[in-house]
Amino acid sequence: MIVGTISKITGPVVVAQNMLGAKMYDVVRVGEMGLMGEVIRLEGDRATIQVYEDTSGLTPGDTVESTDGPLMVELGPGLLTSIYDGVQRPLPIIAEQTGDYIERGTVASALERDKKWAFTPTVTVGQDVNPGDILGTVPEGQTIEHRVMVPPTTKPGKIVSIVAAGDYTVDDTIATLDDGTELRMAQRWPVRQGRPYKRKLDPTHPFTTGMRILDTFFPIALGGNAIIPGGFGTGKTVTQQSLAKWADVDIIVYVGCGERGNEMTEVLTEFPELEDPRSGAPLMDRTVLVANTSNMPVAAREASIYVGATLAEYYRDQGYSVAMMADSTSRWGEALREVSGRLEEMPGEEGYPAYLATRLAAFYERSGRVQALGGDGRVGSVTMVGAVSPAGGDMSEPMTQNSLRVTGAFWALDTSLAHRRHFPAISWTKSYTLYGAQIRGWYEENVAPDWQAMRDRAMGVLQKETELQEIVQLVGPDALPESEKVILEVARMLREDFLQQFAFDEVDAYCPPKKAYLMLKVIMSFHEAATAALNRGVSLRQILEMPLKDRISTMKTTPHEEAIEALPVFADELAGDIAGIEVY
Ligand code: ADP
Repeated sequence: MIVGTISKITGPVVVAQNMLGAKMYDVVRVGEMGLMGEVIRLEGDRATIQVYEDTSGLTPGDTVESTDGPLMVELGPGLLTSIYDGVQRPLPIIAEQTGDYIERGTVASALERDKKWAFTPTVTVGQDVNPGDILGTVPEGQTIEHRVMVPPTTKPGKIVSIVAAGDYTVDDTIATLDDGTELRMAQRWPVRQGRPYKRKLDPTHPFTTGMRILDTFFPIALGGNAIIPGGFGTGKTVTQQSLAKWADVDIIVYVGCGERGNEMTEVLTEFPELEDPRSGAPLMDRTVLVANTSNMPVAAREASIYVGATLAEYYRDQGYSVAMMADSTSRWGEALREVSGRLEEMPGEEGYPAYLATRLAAFYERSGRVQALGGDGRVGSVTMVGAVSPAGGDMSEPMTQNSLRVTGAFWALDTSLAHRRHFPAISWTKSYTLYGAQIRGWYEENVAPDWQAMRDRAMGVLQKETELQEIVQLVGPDALPESEKVILEVARMLREDFLQQFAFDEVDAYCPPKKAYLMLKVIMSFHEAATAALNRGVSLRQILEMPLKDRISTMKTTPHEEAIEALPVFADELAGDIAGIEVY
C-alpha cells in the first residue's frame, strides 16, 4: 500500500510526499481521522490531494494512505428514497451515528447491507450473458422495478448457477459465470467516468414538463440538457420541484449544492414531503437526493455532480428515463475555482480555472438518450437541468456563458417578471432551445399537425408586443392603430392566460401539451377573427366588450379532460361571435 506524508496544507488542498505509484483521482485517507480525499495532481513522488472534509487539525508529517482506486459509487437496489452527501454517504445514517454535524472521517455504506430484497431471476443456467444483460428484477418502492444487470466490465460468460426467486441482500451471490465470476445485486462504478452504452440515439422525444412556456416555446428532448439561470427569488427552486413532480420521466436524481446551510435544509425537508402526483406515493420513492451539506468543504461539491450523474446513468442503463437536476451548478463552479486557486493555477476569467468550459462540457455530455448495453435493446435517457445562480442576475458571468455554450436550452428566469409576480418568471425573449427542429415531429404527430405553426404565430405576437411597447412608452398607446392595439391585447392574453401558470394550483400546476396547444388555438383564433373584424370596420371596443371573451381567462383552471373537449368548440364559437359583430 502507498503511504505518504503530508508536506503542505492549504485549506481543502493537501500536498503529500512519498506517493510514488499513486494514480490521478485515486481516493486517499488523510491523517489519523482518515479524511477522505482525491489525488488531483501528481509531480514526481508528490501528490496534490483535494480533501472532502474539513482539514483543520491536520499537520505536516501526518500520513496519507492511498486506497489504490478512484472515487466509486455503489449501485444497486435501495438507491431510490436515499439521501446522500457529495461522496455518497447516506446522510440520515451518518446523522444517527454522529449527530447532525457529520464527524470527520465517517465511513458509512451507501446501500443497506442487511436488508433483503425480493429478487426474481430472469436468466437460467446454461444461458450466455453479456455486460448489461438483466439477471433478474427487484421491486424497489411501489413503482419501480429495479433491473439487476451484468456489470459493464464483466466478461461475457455462461450462467452456471442462479439463485431461485427469494429474498437476498445486495452482497449475496445471485449468479455465477463459467469463469467463476460471482455476480451480486450491488456493483460499483468510478464516478468520473461515464457508464458505457451501445449507442446514442437522436433526441426526437420531448421531455414534457407540464409547464406551458417550456413545452410550447422552449421544449427540450429526452436526453437533452438545459440550464435555468436566475437570481435569488426568481423561482429556481419552485421550477425544479415542479419539474421533479411533473416531468414525464421515471426517476429523479436531485443534486443540491447549497451555499448556506438553510438552502439545503429546505430541500431536505421539503422533498421528502412531496407527493408523486401520478401514483399518490411519496415522490422520494423514485428519487435519489444528493445533498452537499454546508459543513462539507467545497471539494465535496465538486465530486457531487459526478456522483449524481453516475446514479442517473445507472437507472438509464436499466431502461428508464431519468431527470437529473443540479441546483445550483454555480456552487460547483465556485468549488472548482477555489481548488484551482489553492493549486496556484493560472486563473481564467473571473478567477475560474481555464478548464471550466471543458469540465462543464464533459459533465453535460453525460446526458443523452441511449440504447443500453444488454441484449433486449432497451432504451433509457438522462435529461439534465442545471440551475445557475449568477451573482446579481448578471448573465454575462463565466458560469452562465460557459454553460450555455455546451447545453441545448436556456430557460432564463427574469427578475423583473418575478417582481411583477408573473410566474413562472421564465423570459420568453431571452430563453431559447436548440431542440425545436428535432422534436417538432413528435408534437405534430401527437399533439396537432399545426402545432409548430400555432406556436410560431403566438411567439410572433409576443415579439411584436416587445417592439410595440417601445413605441407605447414614447408616444402612449393611443397613437397605435387598432390593428396594433389588438396585438397588445392578444399578447396580454398570452402572458396572463397562457404563460402564467400557478405552481400551487391543483389543476394548473400541470398542463398536458394537448391542452396547452388548444389554449393557444383559442387565443390565436381570437386574434384572427378580431383582425378580420377590424378590417370590416368593427371597432376594437366592440370586440373587447364581447362577453364570451372572458372565458379565455378560465381555460387554465378548467380540468384537463373537460378543457380538451370544450376548447375546440369554444375557439369556433368565439370566432363565430366576432364574425357576427355588426358594424355601426
Ligand atoms: P429561488 O429558488 O430562485 O430563490 P424560489 O423558487 O424560492 O426562488 O421562488 C421564490 C418565490 O416565488 C416562491 O416562494 C413563490 O412564491 C414564487 N414562485 C416562483 N415560481 C412560482 C410559480 N410557478 N407559481 C407560483 N409562485 C411561484
